[in-house]
Amino acid sequence: MSLDFFTQLTSIVYLIAAVFFILGLKKLSSPKTARQGNLFAMIGMLIAVLMTLFDRNILSYEYIILGLIIGGAIGAISAKKVQMTSMPQMVALFNGFGGIASALVAFAELYQQAGDVALHENITISLSLLVGMVTFTGSLIAYAKLQGIMRGAPIVLPLHQILNFLLLIGSVALVILAVMYPTEYILWALILLVLAAIFGVTFVIPIGGADMPVVISLLNSYSGIAAAMTGFVLGNSVLIIAGALVGASGIILTNIMCVAMNRSIANVLFGAVGTDGGATATGEKETRTVTSYTAVDAGIMLDQAQSVIIVPGYGLAVAQAQHVLQEMAQILMDRGVKVRYAIHPVAGRMPGHMNVLMAEANVSYDLLLEMDEINDDFQDTDVALVIGANDVINPAARTKKDSPLYGMPILNVDQARTVMIVKRSLGAGFAGEGNEMFFDEKTMMVFGDAKKVITDLVKTLKAE
Ligand code: NDP
Repeated sequence: MSLDFFTQLTSIVYLIAAVFFILGLKKLSSPKTARQGNLFAMIGMLIAVLMTLFDRNILSYEYIILGLIIGGAIGAISAKKVQMTSMPQMVALFNGFGGIASALVAFAELYQQAGDVALHENITISLSLLVGMVTFTGSLIAYAKLQGIMRGAPIVLPLHQILNFLLLIGSVALVILAVMYPTEYILWALILLVLAAIFGVTFVIPIGGADMPVVISLLNSYSGIAAAMTGFVLGNSVLIIAGALVGASGIILTNIMCVAMNRSIANVLFGAVGTDGGATATGEKETRTVTSYTAVDAGIMLDQAQSVIIVPGYGLAVAQAQHVLQEMAQILMDRGVKVRYAIHPVAGRMPGHMNVLMAEANVSYDLLLEMDEINDDFQDTDVALVIGANDVINPAARTKKDSPLYGMPILNVDQARTVMIVKRSLGAGFAGEGNEMFFDEKTMMVFGDAKKVITDLVKTLKAE
């Protein structure tokens, strides 16, 4: 086989892998085809990895195979074990590992060539070191905040944004120095890695825990950019393509989340919005009373309804109540009740969280309606059944200017004839904001764990 033929074959195989990536991304955009999309992306990655193993001038396969086994085992076990609600933390860790991998490969390349690299390689290596390291430490902080290892509330140091600006300027200056004086490459690279590591930390600590999923999506984009830079360093086209796709999709997702919360990316990154994570409300002691009902009362009410809109939220995922909820909805539909689900774009803790949860319970996709599609229908609905959701129905988003939720579009549950809210207490949601909806005269609070309450509802409905 001539070298030319092999080079051409490599390019064609990489192109096929890239097509799989793009088709995978396309299919990920709808819950119906998302599983297939994942499969496509996996096939693309397998093709790319296998081709790279043949294409490269590899001295020893032992370490690579060992790395594949250890890394594959860690990935498979953690993906199998992780709770759906802890998915953002896991994505954060994987982003971080992607970032450090890119930085290490770039450093190794620089070291191997003893700084004797072409100008364009020097630029991409330095950028790979910078972006990869920022992604690594930033992602670790995001992980620690979400996992409760460190405080979720924003940590703002004196002159914080000025410090960040100086770190950024310093890092860029080092990239320029590394390009201009490549003989001192080890010195520049090491200082750059240290500055970038500090910048990653100071960049993420002032951002509140509730905004972490947005930050993770942004860091995901950075890890893609770092990978693309490393692709340039190694002259590997499929890594450039994959990195660019991750970089672009991460930015698009970040934008979608910001639009859904009606906030700018600058407000998320520099606004220091948020509290420790929302287990408690505003801190003031609540003296008002709410109307509390049992699951039996709620079951009777639902049995009499002609139309019900279910609003799932984070608490539904925590309670893992999606299957029993589906059973309850089916009983109602069998009795002729019009049942639909209203999906808020930021319900839960990650984009598409509620879609994934409902897909797990085999809820028909036609019943899942996005906020814009269903918001006008609440006014003609008998019962809005809110299960473990809080911020996405909180009227403070419309009225309370100093609320972290202010400006976020919410589901119009208050327009339904009756609002039934299932949750364990009067506690706040992730944004830490109290909810006036609990005290509304048309609201029925049904306190308890979502799974327990809905199981009792099913029993009541079956008994009637
Ligand atoms: P929230 O976090 O506002 O509220 C969830 C509620 O569930 C809590 O108030 C809690 O109340 C209740 N709950 C918890 N466990 C249970 C349980 N076992 N049974 C019943 N209820 C339970 O969730 P939402 O989905 O309404 O809103 C999501 C929030 O996350 C928004 O602020 C959004 O901006 C934020 N966010 C989401 C992102 C995403 O991509 N989805 C990205 C960035 C931010 P109690 O303790 O009383 O039971």
